[in-house]
Amino acid sequence: MSKKLLLKDAHIEGIRYFETYRKQGGYTAAEKALKMTPDEILEEVKTSGLRGRGGAGFPTGMKWSFLAKPEGVPRHLVVNADESEPGTFKDRYLMEFLPHLLIEGMLISSFCLGSNVSYIYIRGEYSWIPDILEEAIEEAKAAGFLGKNILGTGFDCEIYVQRGGGAYICGEETALLESLEGKRGNPRLKPPFPAVKGLWERPTVVNNVESIAAIVPIIDITGAEYAKIGVGRSTGTKLISACGNINKPGVYEIDMTITVEEFIYSDEYCGGIPNGKRLKACIPGGSSVPIVPANLLLKTVNGEPRYMNYESLADGGFATGTMMGSGGFIVLDEDQCIVEHTMTLARFYHHESCGQCTPCREGTGWMHKILKKIEKGEGKMEDIDLLWDIQRKIEGNTICPLGDAAAWPVAAAIRHFRDEFEWHVKNPELCLTQNYGLANY
Ligand code: NAD
Ligand code: SF4
Repeated sequence: MSKKLLLKDAHIEGIRYFETYRKQGGYTAAEKALKMTPDEILEEVKTSGLRGRGGAGFPTGMKWSFLAKPEGVPRHLVVNADESEPGTFKDRYLMEFLPHLLIEGMLISSFCLGSNVSYIYIRGEYSWIPDILEEAIEEAKAAGFLGKNILGTGFDCEIYVQRGGGAYICGEETALLESLEGKRGNPRLKPPFPAVKGLWERPTVVNNVESIAAIVPIIDITGAEYAKIGVGRSTGTKLISACGNINKPGVYEIDMTITVEEFIYSDEYCGGIPNGKRLKACIPGGSSVPIVPANLLLKTVNGEPRYMNYESLADGGFATGTMMGSGGFIVLDEDQCIVEHTMTLARFYHHESCGQCTPCREGTGWMHKILKKIEKGEGKMEDIDLLWDIQRKIEGNTICPLGDAAAWPVAAAIRHFRDEFEWHVKNPELCLTQNYGLANY
């Protein structure tokens, strides 16, 4: 059984409210942290080895240590709750059921970073959650954990919730900051990184909801103890939102030592694939990470089991591996059509492109059109090479990672499932009525 740090109290009735959360030991980590110095907190976070849980896996302690501290300039913590990556819904779960865990994590983080005004930027589609967060903020304030002179320390902190307007791109941290400033959410060129020039050009740390929630157990048990959980550079626990062709979709907390096979088939997690169907492929980290066929998903190229952690999932690089990403785990059984699936993703990225860079604005549209043609049985063999060529011209040539995120699923689908693309071209009649299936492998 995986160790639970974030979701250990999620089953307790009323845990959403301050009184119950406090009874379960809530805000004791904040009390402990406010007796420490900001540098001591930073050391704990660095020691914990916590890596950003939004998708990039950048070490949180390192990001915090990059925060510029010019004299007299306010600094900000901004929590990225614009969880829009297809297949990802773990932050929603945290905010809906454990809002005080996020608020407590924000209080500790704000104190460490010197942010007196911190923000939660939440995707507009999570329309019912801002009320839950605002209620939790009010409760924390009434209990003296937010507002002026918190616990008599002289530290002031306010938290504001800002709703997004429903654009995927506003989850990209610089687009999010633009949107928070009241402008159109277009990504900025980096560097400068937000740690130097962020919200209103002030030093800003942007972190994912789960990363900030994880600060609570880190302070509670210490960074050293947190680092003992997991394996290698995949320390602590990770939330995984599992969906697709599985018996038990949901949000699971894993300690990153379990294998992918165990995660898919054990009753503790996904509970296997419905109707005894076979596993065809999986996207383990949200739609932006490469799809992996079953044979490479259950084993690495060296024949080792593949584990649910940053290093093992990436083993072999993009040619044979994938990424932990946001932890949005999408399972595809033998009946799923890879061409249709890739086309659906291409449509999404084309729709969500902000249009600033030509390779992304034009390339995502071309990829969608070509995939639609192949999927309808109207494609030619050269279209597959053209598709490959377009995705290569997008990758690495854009302002923000949305371009790469649009290119990688197409690249991985062609790399691993080229036969299926060719079958669509060779069998225009058949591909309208039946799927390529596993039998053809
Ligand atoms: P990134 O690698 O560019 O940056 C990661 C973080 O580290 C950023 O906060 C950045 O500011 C910081 N950073 C990196 N180098 C730095 C430096 N030298 N100095 C200071 N700070 C530095 O990645 P990203 O654009 O933040 O995230 C991309 C990932 O987001 C994708 O891999 C995808 O998995 C994920 N994603 C998640 C969602 C979601 O809903 N959770 C949606 C879309 C994409
Ligand atoms: Fe906009 Fe796409 Fe360029 Fe990102 S890569 S800035 S989404 S056009």
